[in-house]
Amino acid sequence: MPEDSAMTEASLLGRSVHRRIRQMVLSGELTSGQSLSVPALATELGVSRSPVREAVQQLIYEGLAVSAPHVGAKVAAVDDDRIRDVLAVRAALDGLAAAAAATRLTEADLDTLTGIVTAQQAHLNDRADPARDAQLDLEFHTFIRDASGNTCVVDELARLEAQAHLYRGDLWCSARNRRVALREHRRIVEALESGHPESARAAAEAHVQGLLTRLARH
Ligand SMILES: [Zn+2]
Repeated sequence: MPEDSAMTEASLLGRSVHRRIRQMVLSGELTSGQSLSVPALATELGVSRSPVREAVQQLIYEGLAVSAPHVGAKVAAVDDDRIRDVLAVRAALDGLAAAAAATRLTEADLDTLTGIVTAQQAHLNDRADPARDAQLDLEFHTFIRDASGNTCVVDELARLEAQAHLYRGDLWCSARNRRVALREHRRIVEALESGHPESARAAAEAHVQGLLTRLARH
């Protein structure tokens, strides 16, 4: 096999192993404080240890895992103080990303965002499934930040959004909070449709400030 394609295969495998373990953490399949044992995960996923080791390092960089003596690494815990700090920074960066995205999104992009909000609406009528809620929320915010075209904002927000979803309060699962968050998502889409950066910034900031307010109430 030529060296290039061998490397591509290794990096594709690395990426898919990272995505899989990250999903296990974000969905709560692996919970805060649980050990991220490289041999055990390699066996479970049916892969060698090296891509698992790299994936765990990547999770540490993303703030989703922390190094732990003897066990290597464990899933990070996001407590009330940490989530407040994460959301305060996210408010500013989400605003920046939305303002930049407002002038860049195409009609097709706006349709995609509307589709995510519609899926959230449909899901709202179902019983709370925190994993599905988190997934749709991440999809929504990931789409906007990727559309910002600012790679620094994209990198930082990727870490902060994931950490926010490690928080296991009822911020994400109470029916009332889910309804309010959906309304805020709609306002963000409307502001993005208007194409006005400042409206988009205000709507995106208001959503994260809303999360902070609901957290304080909780
Ligand atoms: Zn959201």
